Amino acid sequence: MNTDQLIQKLNDALNSESSGRGISYYTKGVICPKFVQLGQKYGDVQDTRDTDTSKLDIGLIFHKLQELYHGDELSALTIEDRDVSVSPAIQAGLKLFLFYRAHFDSNFWGVPYAVEQAYKDVGSMWGVKEFTFRPDLVVRVTIEDSVRISARYPHIIMDPGLWIIDWKTASAKDVRAKEKYENSVQFAAYCATLQSLLPDEDIRGLLAVRVINHKEPTLFDKYNEPHSVQPFAVRAPDVQRIEEVRSWLQWAEKEIATGEPRLHNCVTYTGICPFLQQGLCDRRF
Ligand code: SF4
Repeated sequence: MNTDQLIQKLNDALNSESSGRGISYYTKGVICPKFVQLGQKYGDVQDTRDTDTSKLDIGLIFHKLQELYHGDELSALTIEDRDVSVSPAIQAGLKLFLFYRAHFDSNFWGVPYAVEQAYKDVGSMWGVKEFTFRPDLVVRVTIEDSVRISARYPHIIMDPGLWIIDWKTASAKDVRAKEKYENSVQFAAYCATLQSLLPDEDIRGLLAVRVINHKEPTLFDKYNEPHSVQPFAVRAPDVQRIEEVRSWLQWAEKEIATGEPRLHNCVTYTGICPFLQQGLCDRRF
């Protein structure tokens, strides 16, 4: 693949539509059932209430590059340093990825087992109509991998077995990331779903890899700790947690079916609902 082909793929990624009903469908539905129903009627819109469009786009580009990297399409590619006309999001995503690739080979977290593999229609295992599951990356971790990873990141214990890798792009360190990830419905659902799909494998957990988009990425800070890459390991859920996730998904599905407007979410501190902005929501006070 040459640089032009790569840029074309990245542009395609920016213009692609989300596939199926993943966790974000349910999460959005709990925040406002009407928002999800309007999305079904008018098509997906970017919701900038939580984060701005440029950050979402940088995340999309970074995910696409990781998909190509772990699918072995980018290892040998030299991205030419020439005047290519690309959007700021592609430039920023590429810069972040090149930083990552300079410090992590594609087998660093284990040998890739599945890259962006979509598993559709796994809703029945959760008792909901539809659930699409598309982990960023699944790796097989050996004892050697586990030792190597812990040598670089002493707080990360990845027991041998299969692990899901979830890429996160961010613009700052988040001191609450660990707690958020440990309580994440998405992460618990992902581990349990994969275990159910691969009953002969041992799904050990999910590693969230936060790659922080500093202006000048550096790997180590003055305490010799990772500065721009923050990994967090979340163990696979136990039986009780799986039941909690099941109840949550079923409850979220019922909430969405009501189609009710949640007026306190129309305008938040960080933005305005895109359906309100476009005059497409007939909400009533
Ligand atoms: S404008 Fe408010 S009620 Fe309507 S979809 Fe958006 S958040 Fe929901």
